[in-house]
Amino acid sequence: MDKEQKSCGSCGESDCSAKKQAPDESTQDFLDRQALHRRMCQVQHKILVLSGKGGVGKSTVAVNMAMSLAMAGKKVGLLDVDVHGPSIPKLLGLEDYRPAIVDESITPILFDNKIKVMSLGFFLPKKDDAVIWRGPLKMSLIKQFLRDVEWGKLDYLVIDSPPGTGDEPLSVAQLVGDASGAVIVTTPQDLAIADVRRSVTFCRQVGVRVLGVIENMSGFVCPTCGTRFDIFKSGGGERMAREMGVPFLGRIPLDPGVVTTSDSGEPFCRKFAGTETAVAFAEAIKPILSLSAEKEAAVRLT
Ligand code: ADP
Repeated sequence: MDKEQKSCGSCGESDCSAKKQAPDESTQDFLDRQALHRRMCQVQHKILVLSGKGGVGKSTVAVNMAMSLAMAGKKVGLLDVDVHGPSIPKLLGLEDYRPAIVDESITPILFDNKIKVMSLGFFLPKKDDAVIWRGPLKMSLIKQFLRDVEWGKLDYLVIDSPPGTGDEPLSVAQLVGDASGAVIVTTPQDLAIADVRRSVTFCRQVGVRVLGVIENMSGFVCPTCGTRFDIFKSGGGERMAREMGVPFLGRIPLDPGVVTTSDSGEPFCRKFAGTETAVAFAEAIKPILSLSAEKEAAVRLT
């Protein structure tokens, strides 16, 4: 191995783990790990968006989080590694796009000239195709999306992770390595809350900081009579966050506008900026937005 290969070339840190080949690591695995490290080093904050189960609005939150960060002037990437239900292309109206692959590098699709987007959905021949992925293939696909996509320098990479606490979110957490943290999305009823407890425990076991819990689909105000209905109950996410000692980021109401914008491929918080629901999204991402400031302050102190 020549001198060039001993350093991944992305930083001058002498104790960087990507500088040393592990005793049980093949040269190919070492070079792969360096390539992944080189790519991820360009990203300041990797944010995992997790949920205990599907259908609670994880992808919707990921899209609106990415859009809100981009609207705040941040350089943002959005990676959809929900291998069994890649819905980001649909949520952004990008279903007919196909990324270019040049010299083994994948060019992300640019949404609104602001967000670099990558999803397995771009590679499925037909949008209704079901993919049966075997374990190792899933792991290698997730690795490819982190390592081989031309993310460039980003302030934030928002990662829409597979639901649950199984092998797939585990692979994501392990491959990303130094995630800034995870946002856990839930709905308020007891059945969903039990799953979120498992997600919090999962984060603790894999050493990922829980940035907070978002309670989605929390309350609905009838547009005709103005009465509030708590269809899936309300407050369960907040209570659970308090009990588990993790931050609560806020409640997003059940809003028919979220469904129509999801179906028409536009992020809600851009189309309906200023509405109660958009303000709730904005409030929920404030602690994520302040991560940049936190990091800058930490760098100034060192
Ligand atoms: P997940 O990623 O958890 O499977 P999605 O983000 O795909 O869930 O959302 C599932 C469905 O719920 C979508 O049709 C989406 O438009 C809808 N949805 C999500 N959040 C809300 C909300 N706050 N109000 C109304 N509908 C919502």
